[in-house]
Formats: sequence, C-alpha cells, structure tokens
Amino acid sequence: MYFTEEHEVFRQSFKEFLHKEVVPYIEKLEKTGTIERFIWKKFGEMGYFGLNTPEEYNGLNLDLFYAVIFLEELQKINSGGFAAAMWAHAYLAMTHLTKEGSEEIKQKYLTASVEGELIGCLCITEPFGGSDVAGMRTTAVKKGDSYVLNGSKTFITNGVYSDYLIVAAKTDVEAKHNGMSIFLVDRDAKGVSATKLDKLGWKASDTGEIAFDNVEIPASNLMGEEGKGFPYIMQHFALERLIMGINAHARAEFAVDYAIDYMKERTAFGKSLDKFQALRHKIAEMASEVEMCKEFNYSITKRLNDGDYVVKEASMSKLLSTKMADQVIYDALQMLGGYGYMEEYPMARLLRDSRLGPIGGGTSEILKEIIAKMIIDKKDYKPAT
Ligand SMILES: Cc1cc2nc3c(=O)[nH]c(=O)nc-3n(C[C@H](O)[C@H](O)[C@H](O)COP(=O)(O)OP(=O)(O)OC[C@H]3O[C@@H](n4cnc5c(N)ncnc54)[C@H](O)[C@@H]3O)c2cc1C
Repeated sequence: MYFTEEHEVFRQSFKEFLHKEVVPYIEKLEKTGTIERFIWKKFGEMGYFGLNTPEEYNGLNLDLFYAVIFLEELQKINSGGFAAAMWAHAYLAMTHLTKEGSEEIKQKYLTASVEGELIGCLCITEPFGGSDVAGMRTTAVKKGDSYVLNGSKTFITNGVYSDYLIVAAKTDVEAKHNGMSIFLVDRDAKGVSATKLDKLGWKASDTGEIAFDNVEIPASNLMGEEGKGFPYIMQHFALERLIMGINAHARAEFAVDYAIDYMKERTAFGKSLDKFQALRHKIAEMASEVEMCKEFNYSITKRLNDGDYVVKEASMSKLLSTKMADQVIYDALQMLGGYGYMEEYPMARLLRDSRLGPIGGGTSEILKEIIAKMIIDKKDYKPAT
C-alpha cells in the first residue's frame, strides 16, 4: 500500500550500503562513541541525508516513505546510537535548517549538511529540565547586529562532534511560550564548550552537555522569526515523535526475526525451541503487536506526507510503539536464555538502546498530557505560520 518498486530498490541498496560501509565498523563505534568523518561523508555522497531536502540544496526531495526505509534499515544493524546520530542530523537539525533557515543559512549549511560535510545537532533540553520546554533558561540578548547567548544544554545527540548547533534560547525571559527563538551557532564560536556524557545505551553516539558563555553570534543567525521558537519546536516534534515510533517498530521487528531464527536452531528436551507451544504463542503475540504499530505508523506517515498536522497521532505512535518495543525486546531476549544476556548476541545492546524510546524527544508522561489535552479538553494544536 505504501511502498513502490522504487522504494524497494532503495531499501535493497541502502541495506547493502549499510552492510558494506557501516556494519564492519559498528563494534568500534560502540566502543569509542565517535563516528568517523569518512562515514558521514559516504552517507552524504550517496544522498542519504538529503532524501527529503529540496533539490536546490542538493537534496532528492523524495516522499517520507524513503525516510521510513532509512530509519527502519538503520535500526536493523543494531546500533541505536549510530542510527540516532544519523537521524538527529538529517531530521532534527536539518529540519529546522530547511524550514526556518534564511536563504543565506541554507546555502551555507543545508547543502553542506546534505553532503555530509557539516554535521548538526538540535539543542533544546537543559540541565534544569527537558519536559518543560518553555521553562528553559538559556538566553539570547540582542546587542547591535549580534545576539549574545548564555546558558547550557544537556543530553544533546551529536552534541560534542557536530559542526553547528541549532539552539533554542529565550529572547524574552518574561514571556513563557512567546519568548523563545531558534539560532544557528557555529561549534567554533568563542564561548561554546561541550562535555561528553556516559550513558546506558546509544553508545556509538556522542551525547553532550553544552555550555554557552557569552557566545556572540551574528543577528542573521536567528532562524525564522524572533519569539516563534516554541511553535517551531512543537511543529517539528510531530516528525521527531513519528520517527521515534518508526524506529521502535523496526527494532522490535528485528528482535522478533532474530528470536525466530535462533529458536529454529536451538534445541531443548530433544526439539527445537520453535516447537514449544508456549514460546510459539509468545512469538505470535509479539509479532502481532509489532505489526499493529507498524501499520499505524505507516498510515500516519502517509498523512504527514500529504500535509496533515498529525501532532496527536505522532504522539500516540511514539507512546505505544516505544512501550511495545521495550516489552517485545525484553521478551525476545528471554527466548535466547543465557545467550540473550551476552554481548556477543544482539539482544543486550538492543534492550539498552530501546530504553531511550519512552524518554527522548518527549517522555511518555508528556505525550499522555498532550494526548489527554487533545481528546479530553479538545485542545487544537496548530502549526507555526
Ligand atoms: C540519549 C539521549 C539523547 C537525547 N538527545 C537530545 C537532543 O538531541 N536534543 C535535545 O534537546 N534533547 C535530547 N534529549 C533530552 C530528552 O528529550 C529529555 O531527556 C526528555 O525530554 C526529558 O527531559 P528531562 O530529562 O529533563 O526529564 P524531566 O523533565 O526532568 O522529567 C523527569 C521525569 O518527570 C516526568 N515529568 C515531568 N513533567 C511531568 C508532568 N507535567 N507530568 C507528568 N510527569 C512529568 C517525566 O516524564 C520524567 O519521567 C536526549 C536525552 C537522552 C537521554
């Protein structure tokens, strides 16, 4: 219903690319937490960062089902951290560049981002709080032809090794939702510093805490209109949350497929594991849950691609798909017995990486708040104009 022959050709070639150009390096990336530049450049050369970017910036301007394939196949090489680094660049930083960047910014940063020459990150969360976005404390004060930024951000994907930062900051500290703006900050701007954080999973990605100490940037680095930062962020959250829902169904599907293959080979009490009814029924239940989420996520992708503002549905997608993935991966690990707990097998990393799903990009509790407001209080969220 959603994928054409062209999509399938793309899936096959992207899969082959990943197995040839990325899989041989995954173990190293997981250990170092550093993705070397030649990998980013190869993605750029192949056009993978520009699947949904307009052609005038070297993008391919394709439909969102190419993004779905990009996300799904990245999950299936089992490094949530590597996948996160790629999609945070292509769909968090680059979405803001595409939608709010001035022509000058796009010429300088978007084309180079498509080509994998410049890497970006999106900085919203702060040490004092992530869920309460409007309560952020980082400030940007106008001074002649510049803005001066002060404050800090944390848990930022690509936060240490990226070349530019898309930063949300308060331009009016009195106004809550209407006082926030978005800026582009160069990594080498004076006063920017970053520290790498150690974490449970997503080991291949550099998650950083970033400080801005009197960072002076040109006023032309303001993205979009001053004071519109909050609606811009909320608008793009729909895509980010759907992405996280898609990632969740893809990694859960990978876990089920892996468990089924394993159960065919492993024997207990004289027969293969896939002959035990209790396990067969568990697998049937897991596969059904994956399929339900997948179909929902595809249908919401179609609506987003057609221009619908799917805030509620994208929140539902992330809420349920990430919960489903955690449970399915937990159960798939069980199918492998002791081997499931070993790093030599994929389930241990998959379980760790999956746990970020209900936290990053809006926690499950916050998503429930949004959904409740929409279905109980009939609140209507509108895209930024
Ligand atoms: C590996 C990783 C990568 C990340 N990448 C990025 C990134 O690239 N860019 C970025 O900006 N951020 C990023 N984040 C941050 C992430 O989006 C935040 O961690 C998340 O939004 C939650 O914010 P917090 O951690 O400050 O939790 P808090 O806001 O302190 O919340 C703590 C707990 O309280 C709950 N809670 C808070 N408010 C309410 C409420 N009103 N009702 C009910 N429960 C509530 C939360 O659900 C949570 O369970 C990343 C985080 C991680 C761990």
